[in-house]
Amino acid sequence: MLPKLLPVRTRPKPGESLSSWLARTAYENGIYLQTFCHLVWYRKPIWNRDTDRTGDFEILRHLASLTATSPTQALQTIIRHYEGIVFRHYLVSGTQRHVTSLGVYHRTRRGYGQTYCPLCLLEEGYFKLKWRFSFITACSRHDQRLWDRCWQCGTPICIHRGKWMHCDACQADLRHAPHLKRDSRAVELQKRLEGALENKLFWDVPVRTSLDFFDLIHDCTRALGTRYERNKAFRTAICELAGGSPDWIFPTEYYPQMETMECLYRHQLMAFAARILANWPWTFIACATRADFSTGYIFRDWKPTSSEFRRVAETFLAYKT
Ligand SMILES: [Zn+2]
Ligand SMILES: [Zn+2]
Repeated sequence: MLPKLLPVRTRPKPGESLSSWLARTAYENGIYLQTFCHLVWYRKPIWNRDTDRTGDFEILRHLASLTATSPTQALQTIIRHYEGIVFRHYLVSGTQRHVTSLGVYHRTRRGYGQTYCPLCLLEEGYFKLKWRFSFITACSRHDQRLWDRCWQCGTPICIHRGKWMHCDACQADLRHAPHLKRDSRAVELQKRLEGALENKLFWDVPVRTSLDFFDLIHDCTRALGTRYERNKAFRTAICELAGGSPDWIFPTEYYPQMETMECLYRHQLMAFAARILANWPWTFIACATRADFSTGYIFRDWKPTSSEFRRVAETFLAYKT
């Protein structure tokens, strides 16, 4: 039996994710995590789903009560908290726009959706919820690209398995992961998006709310898709006109969802997006024209969600299919 209040009342740290808070609570109280979950939520499925995303209220309620945490603080550890800020509607299943996919397989993970900054882990000692957003691909504080796997053996990260902050497959300490190079413009754009997460808007594009901004980011990355030759020409034009490396690679010639991409590819997409959003919409129009984009071509198999993106595409690019 557990006491009503745990000896160490582990409250969520600023921006901490639920899975990190839960695992850290067991760790700091010296209880094996699976035992702790078994004692508090007997037989409740916890780790065979995306805990940060589902944000089960029963888990939140008990964990908050055991650690004397306020409900408001507890609710900030889950993805659902960002409904109306990052995405319009929270989805129970399927891909949630802007949220990375973990590839949950029983109690393990097959996808690379859980990212981390080794220096943040070292200095602050927990996993941040924002590392689960697909547009967060770098640490703006430590100026490096995020890791999305064990730096030693390449296994996807399972916060809940093995030793706290270690790889459960090879025991490597995640805090010792080497530095990864980043694209400075991708980081600049990310800083603005981090501001939007807190409802601070200061980007030089005409968006009224954070949702409009995140929709615009989605449409930009969608237009950078890889399925057709002209999308490649579009990316080449960006490199020629706005800088960047034509060697940046993409995983497949078909358009993959950003939410399921590895962090490296998401970072490269963000680097391209940062360039077309600079001097908006002029860089975008120049690159799209050079790649022979037309409105009909861009929207041939998807519909934009951002009214600003649609306005620019329909106003400045010829409409032909
Ligand atoms: Zn960091
Ligand atoms: Zn490993």
